[in-house]
Amino acid sequence: MKVKSVRQEVLLNLATNGKIDREIPTNSVTHQFGVNTFDEKAMREFLPIEDYRKLRDTIRKGEKLDMSISNTVAHAMKEWAISKGVTHFTHWFQPQTGATAEKHDSFLEVDDGNVLERFRGSKLVQGEPDASSFPSGGSRTTFEARGYTMWDPSSPAFIIEGPRGGILCIPSVFISYTGEALDKKTPLLRSMDAISKSAMKILRIFGNTSATRVITTIGTEQEYFLIDKTYYNLRSDLQITGRTLQGAAPPKGQQLDDHYFGSIKERVLAFMQDSESELYKLGVPAKTRHNEVAPHQYEIAPIFAEANVGADRNHLIMEVLKKVANRHGLALLLHEKPFEGVNGSGKHNNWSLADSDGNNLLDPGKTPEQNLQFLVFLVATLRAVYQHADLLRMSIASAGNDHRLGANEAPPAIVSVFLGQRLTQILDNIKKGKQTKAAEDYIINLGISKLPSILRDNTDRNRTSPFAFTGEKFEFRAIGSSSSVSLANTVLNAAVADSLDVIAADIKKGLKKSKKLNEVVLSVIKNHIIEAEPIRFEGNNYSKEWEKEAEKRKLPNIKKTGYALDALVSPKNCKLLIRQSVLNQTEIESRYNTKIEQYITSLEIEAETFRDLANTKILPTAISYQGQLLDTVKKLRDVEDIISADSYQGEVQLLQEVTSKIQDLNEKLTDLSAKIEKAEEIEDLPKKAKFFSDKIVEALQAVRVPADALETILPDSDWPLPKYSEMLFIM
Ligand code: ADP
Ligand code: MG
Repeated sequence: MKVKSVRQEVLLNLATNGKIDREIPTNSVTHQFGVNTFDEKAMREFLPIEDYRKLRDTIRKGEKLDMSISNTVAHAMKEWAISKGVTHFTHWFQPQTGATAEKHDSFLEVDDGNVLERFRGSKLVQGEPDASSFPSGGSRTTFEARGYTMWDPSSPAFIIEGPRGGILCIPSVFISYTGEALDKKTPLLRSMDAISKSAMKILRIFGNTSATRVITTIGTEQEYFLIDKTYYNLRSDLQITGRTLQGAAPPKGQQLDDHYFGSIKERVLAFMQDSESELYKLGVPAKTRHNEVAPHQYEIAPIFAEANVGADRNHLIMEVLKKVANRHGLALLLHEKPFEGVNGSGKHNNWSLADSDGNNLLDPGKTPEQNLQFLVFLVATLRAVYQHADLLRMSIASAGNDHRLGANEAPPAIVSVFLGQRLTQILDNIKKGKQTKAAEDYIINLGISKLPSILRDNTDRNRTSPFAFTGEKFEFRAIGSSSSVSLANTVLNAAVADSLDVIAADIKKGLKKSKKLNEVVLSVIKNHIIEAEPIRFEGNNYSKEWEKEAEKRKLPNIKKTGYALDALVSPKNCKLLIRQSVLNQTEIESRYNTKIEQYITSLEIEAETFRDLANTKILPTAISYQGQLLDTVKKLRDVEDIISADSYQGEVQLLQEVTSKIQDLNEKLTDLSAKIEKAEEIEDLPKKAKFFSDKIVEALQAVRVPADALETILPDSDWPLPKYSEMLFIM
């Protein structure tokens, strides 16, 4: 076979890549687990016993670090790290854009002419990256352009292994000198405090005197695609934008649905096992793995953890998967929609609350009081989602996620809550003040009202719901696969905290008139059940009827990021975030601006990348083929005495088709450029974002149509880009 293109050469070589090294780890999971984290075991080993206890208690109680032990802790951490081949440390944090940030510093110091390795408490507790190049959404123009990072002791320090020694990573927050949060984690931590305070009010009302705080727990299910790295190297669109900006639909897509939960290929399994092993060392309890719906789409989920730790771990999962994929000659695609016409990837955020005694507050209890308390938390969450559906929508808005939401694969942009049949019935009965008729053993007597006892019920599922109650937790399913989960959890916590405050106040007011707690609580939640009723939806969220119904219910349905972001700065939502001390006005505005800039930039980059692909790869290939066809037609015409014009109509038509696609592509490119130029004239950022949502997204969609068509008519041997049928099916 005559190989013509690099692409074809690559395909021929892939078959030889399939060999897998077999290397069964000798260490059990429990032996590997957390070896690269400065966990309680390492602390106990490297710290004097009193200091160990102080640090442990600080962490367990979520308190601030006792500064008197910072030097000892830093020294112990350094000794531990050096024993594992570490040379450098970094404050590891989550700036407003991008995933995580790090700047490495060595432990090296020169003291009195002697070179030694030292790590001072001050360096552990506080770092000073050059903050000026991190986005601040304008908030730093008003004050000093510097910020510092601060250790968050509640998330354990860990070691990232490098090829020549490790790096000690200290999970940190990033704040300006005037105290404004410059990162994603600070507001998350504040929201966790807020919800703890509010939830404690409820626990005390129900007579709980032992719990000292309430923690938010999250477990994130992460979806991703894997393709051979060689394809990735041949596609600048994947490298630069994370998604294919061009690509004709393959003859077989995911129609056969034969991939979901199917058997995992050995090559992929080897990758998964290596990634899990790395994650175990970092103390990330990776628990489940499986195939997803689309070809070469997969999912990984860890056991849940406290929200800030869970968010850190999700970042680690994304980083580790990327790194290990690379080692396996694979490319990990985290984009929300890497392939058009094929399911995209998201992140299910499982969310719940637990008290400091370890009780899950969204797990229905055994006694009537526990059941009633459960109902309070349930109804508070309903109310929160109802009141702030637009803010939740904002929290998951991105250019990538816009391609996925509502595309029959992911929840729509309409946020609603699914509760399942049983809970729906219970809430409806409370609303009607009706006694439930059910078998006697299902009945709990609340004094004034009889309700079915609430059993944990995992069987009732609605996969189409963006916000579903799944037994003992809620699952927010609309987060994009590449995004951080921090903001979504931050706004969710703030909104639920606020609802808990309202409900607690209502109950206290009611208790002034009546001493019957159960009665008062029921009448309070009844009001909120009625008020929040429009947010409940049990049907098919993908259906057209739901869109109409949601409109009647006045639920927001904001499809485009350029519009969705506005919810962040609406007076109602600003008041919520400020009231709950999660973000102040400056911080809100800085996030708003950053998000808009990020959105615009990512679309500008897509346009630029497409232009480049078209001008340097697609058009030259098409024009060269057009030339060949033209030559052929000309030559045929020269011999018209022996070959009639009718008999080479096919060649002529092909030439016309190629020519018209080239023309179409050129016109669409010109149109895209004109629109980008027009956008540049818009100074007002929110307006500009809307222009991008309305016009640039459309122009980008239009420009790929002729490009995709060309792929299907140009000779396979000449086509410069790996095709969907290859990337998705040949590994
Ligand atoms: P699914 O059927 O949705 O995959 P799983 O039981 O596998 O449900 O749970 C998915 C995720 O939910 C896991 O990360 C799990 O740890 C997490 N999860 C379970 N319980 C809780 C909880 N109480 N709080 C937060 N996350 C939880
Ligand atoms: Mg799930």
